Amino acid sequence: MTVLDELFDRIGGLREVGERTTVHYECRRCGLTLSKDAIGCPSCGSDEIAAIPL
Ligand SMILES: [Zn+2]
Repeated sequence: MTVLDELFDRIGGLREVGERTTVHYECRRCGLTLSKDAIGCPSCGSDEIAAIPL
């Protein structure tokens, strides 16, 4: 393994960890828990979504 391969391997590992981080999404207006790809709150219609890393 070359130094570059090792570097890319390490970067890939870090990225994988980053994607595994849990993020909680909720409506800023009413606090309803939303899914990651929600474009708006189905409860109050607000499109302000708070992303909270846990
Ligand atoms: Zn809402």
